Formats: sequence, C-alpha cells, structure tokens
Amino acid sequence: MLNAQHLCKTYRSGEVDLEVIKDFSLSIEQSEFISLVGPSGSGKSTMLNMLGCLDTPTSGEIIINNTKITGMSKTQMAHFRGENIGFIFQSFNLIPVLSVYENIEYPLIMIQNLPEQEREERILKLLDEVGMLDQKDKTPDQISGGQMQRVAIARALITNPKLIFADEPTANLDTKTAYKIIDLMKKIQMEHQSTFVFATHDEKIVSTVDRIITIVDGELVDDKRISHE
Ligand code: ADP
Ligand code: MG
Repeated sequence: MLNAQHLCKTYRSGEVDLEVIKDFSLSIEQSEFISLVGPSGSGKSTMLNMLGCLDTPTSGEIIINNTKITGMSKTQMAHFRGENIGFIFQSFNLIPVLSVYENIEYPLIMIQNLPEQEREERILKLLDEVGMLDQKDKTPDQISGGQMQRVAIARALITNPKLIFADEPTANLDTKTAYKIIDLMKKIQMEHQSTFVFATHDEKIVSTVDRIITIVDGELVDDKRISHE
C-alpha cells in the first residue's frame, strides 16, 4: 500500500547542508503494525512526516495506494492526506477552543461532505470506542493527557484512513495510560485492517508490533518481522 524509493532529505542551515535522510527505501503492506525505531535525532519524525504527506523529500519517490505523492502540489497533498491518512502527533495538537466532540468533527468538515446526521453518528461511535463519550463537551484543558491522546487518536481515525502514522504517541503518557492507548490502537488495527506506523523507541509499543524498522543517522540499518506466536 505504500512504497518509498530512495528518499533523501536535506536541510539547509546557514551555509551547511544537513543530510538527515539518506537513500531510504521501504514498502509497507496493508494492516501491518510497524515501529520505526532509532536514537533521538536519527530522522524518525522526518521520515514519518514525509510518508504522512506533511513534508516533502528532497529527492526520491513515494507512492501510496497507487498514487504518486512526490511531485504533488501542497494543496493536492493536503487533500490526499485528508482522504487517506491519519496522523497522531506527540503533543496531540488539539484545537484548544473546540470541544472534544468538535476536535474529532473537524477533519470531517474539512474534507468530506457527509450529511450532518451521519457525521454525528460516526463521531459518537468513535468517541465510544476510545472511551471518551462522557467527556465529549469538555475542552482539551479540562481533560488529562491520556484523554487528550484518545481524542487525538479519534481525530486521526474519523475519516477512516487505512494508513495511520503516530509520532511517539506514548511519550507524554504514564505507563498504565500508555498500555491502554496501545491496546486501543491494536484493537482498531485488527477491526479495521488499518496500517499503523509508529516512530518510537518505547519498549511498550516495540514489543507489540510485527515489524521493526531501525534507522540510524538517516539510514535504514535493519528491517525485521516479528512473530508473536
Ligand atoms: P528523530 O525524530 O529521530 O528524533 P528528527 O527527524 O526530528 O529525528 O531529526 C533528524 C535530524 O534532522 C536532527 O538532527 C534534527 O536536528 C534535524 N532537523 C529536523 N528538522 C529540521 C529542520 N526543520 N531544520 C533543520 N534541521 C532539522
Ligand atoms: Mg522525533
């Protein structure tokens, strides 16, 4: 479902070119549960942002669901992202002035033309799935970090994306909450056959995934599949 070939990303800082991703190629199949691991600064977020259509590589090609992403305009990319991809940010990125319900509704209004009633049904169902139905009218400052992460997950999933990226989704959570969030994502992956790619070195996540891709200094150094049987 995703194929990336020879991705390179170079940042220019002053007179110096910083090569952050170096000739990185990978392909991802549907309903894989993947962890992208590597030391801090190795390029995990940069990779995730490029694969998640938030940022463009300096060179190389990305194809998602038979659509070539590289070469698209910013608007085309945003549209494609809205229809196909869910992104869960480490710092949640919820909109402070909107309620829990409205935060989840937001991507639907932006992207899809759903009748109001169907929209409401979908939001309430997902709120229930992530255990936040009774908190739906609160604003982000009235809920805990774990609850914010649940809302961020629901917001990423409301458009029914088949491909979900999560950048250090448990970094700001205590251990117990982190396990709950991981269980929730695993359950969603099994029920919806969706694909999850995590950028994380959190052992709690790494021990549950079925594929671990290791990045060091912007290069892919290992790619192994794990059997949990
Ligand atoms: P990770 O997520 O693995 O910690 P990142 O992808 O955030 O790594 O960063 C990889 C490298 O790229 C780091 O050295 C970082 O300082 C650099 N970097 C990230 N974003 C930028 C940017 N916008 N401009 C310049 N350098 C950047
Ligand atoms: Mg990062």
